[in-house]
Amino acid sequence: MTESHDKATAPDVVDMAIIGAGPAGLTAGLYAARAGLSAVVFERLSPGGQLAQTDQLENYPGFPEGTEGFQLAYAMKQQADNFGVKTLSEEVTAVDLTATPKALTTPFGTHYARTVVVATGARPRKLGVANEEELTGRGVSYCATCDGNFFRGKTVAVVGGGNTAVADALYLARVCEKVYLVHRRDQLRATAVYHQRLADLPNVEFVWNSTVSALEANEAGALARVVVRDKNSGEERSLDVSGLFVAVGTLPNTEFLQGALKLDQTGYIVADETGATSVEGVWAAGDVRTKQLRQVVTAVSDGAVCAEQAAEHLSL
Ligand code: NAP
Repeated sequence: MTESHDKATAPDVVDMAIIGAGPAGLTAGLYAARAGLSAVVFERLSPGGQLAQTDQLENYPGFPEGTEGFQLAYAMKQQADNFGVKTLSEEVTAVDLTATPKALTTPFGTHYARTVVVATGARPRKLGVANEEELTGRGVSYCATCDGNFFRGKTVAVVGGGNTAVADALYLARVCEKVYLVHRRDQLRATAVYHQRLADLPNVEFVWNSTVSALEANEAGALARVVVRDKNSGEERSLDVSGLFVAVGTLPNTEFLQGALKLDQTGYIVADETGATSVEGVWAAGDVRTKQLRQVVTAVSDGAVCAEQAAEHLSL
């Protein structure tokens, strides 16, 4: 039910505007629609958020054999569609959350809503080394499941020690000849279940206590080498790789909210377990809010709670 800028079919003021169509936003929409509210989900790219770019999920209950991220995201979108949630392919670029009704600006106009759920998630953090920008798409990538296939049979490196880095390394080890896992510490931050699996793979080499100090291109302008520096000895080592997958954490997608909601020092929306934000009638769900555990299962939980809170607010 994705609509392209067809404002004629959208009500003038909806009960709930949801910004972001990842697991949190789609679940908020589902719960809102089932509670009898009119709900519109705004999405700048395609639905599913980070989930749609995840290879395999083993920790979402109900799938004993695991499930593909894209499939699960697609099913969530369909389920929301089935209950009448509208999706608009428009990026929200500015908001007035204290106005009545609340106003959301997109490149195609202004939309109005009685309540708002912000579920814009997070995006990959960059390494911040020279040439990173120029080599993005020419060897440097932030999404192994999107780009891994371009490096079939080649040697690549992954940077990071969290769940994303480890899941990326496991995925890439299946398609690439060799995978270096470069981590700045001597142990992984990732969930224990992954550690042995990685260690068992013959084509994964750990590069511990090391950070990326330089990216070198070949004559064609594509990545050819990654220089890593050992934090303890200061020694540098060149890794001949055609791909570098950066998985060093995430940054919240909250730039469009500056001044509109209270954010923490790193830009996440300050919200508690009810999703309530610093502004009445506005909730935050999923990875975009301050929280302990950023997972699909906690994002969908947030979406449900926020929709429930908004429904209660509207009935007052
Ligand atoms: P993360 O858990 O924050 O891990 C980021 C990793 O990057 C850390 O190991 C960190 O090192 C390293 N790092 C940060 N800045 C760096 C830099 N400038 N240079 C080199 N290394 C740097 O991020 P994530 O792995 O993207 O995960 C984000 C959230 O999604 C987490 O809550 C995670 O659990 C969740 N997630 C879950 C799954 C799953 O359960 N299957 C999969 C993917 C993501 P330090 O360890 O030294 O801090």
